[in-house]
Amino acid sequence: MLDFETCDAARLRRDPAYDGLFFTAVKTTGIYCRPVCPVKQPLSANVCYYPSAAAAERDGFRPCLRCRPETAPFCPAWNGTRTTVDRALRLIGEGALDDASVEALATRLGVGPRHLSRLFERHLGASPTQTARTMRVQRAKRLLDDGDLPITEIAYRAGFGSVRRFNAVFRELYGRPPSALRRRHR
Ligand SMILES: [Zn+2]
Repeated sequence: MLDFETCDAARLRRDPAYDGLFFTAVKTTGIYCRPVCPVKQPLSANVCYYPSAAAAERDGFRPCLRCRPETAPFCPAWNGTRTTVDRALRLIGEGALDDASVEALATRLGVGPRHLSRLFERHLGASPTQTARTMRVQRAKRLLDDGDLPITEIAYRAGFGSVRRFNAVFRELYGRPPSALRRRHR
């Protein structure tokens, strides 16, 4: 993870080169953002930095509806140097944890589940399960914003087991159901 000063300087100049490398969580609002977020910048004393969206969400922060963290390029600072995590993320992106366990994923990668969890903790600041949840919500959010697919179809395509689960996860993370988020962008 990049140090606080590096992140803070990049955030204050809204440096696009850092987009995806870290996320800024604002303690006063409970929202997390990309470094390029256009909203008024909070004081440095009120922010903390996370290496992934999943890590910020694990600590209870919500994705910003302006800068849309789900659209940030996926390029944590360690990208390309940690092949097991890279492969795990690719498989999770393809749905590996939507209907199977972390143990099964670890077996596919040829490592133990505890080792896999330690790698995720070290490089992403979040567990494989939390990361999968964030990626699932991000897939759904992009589908919501970018198309006209019915809610049921989005829930299915994003990897949620049911529409009820989809609604519950969105309510928990965004404080409103998917249908309300869709209207907001119309
Ligand atoms: Zn933002």
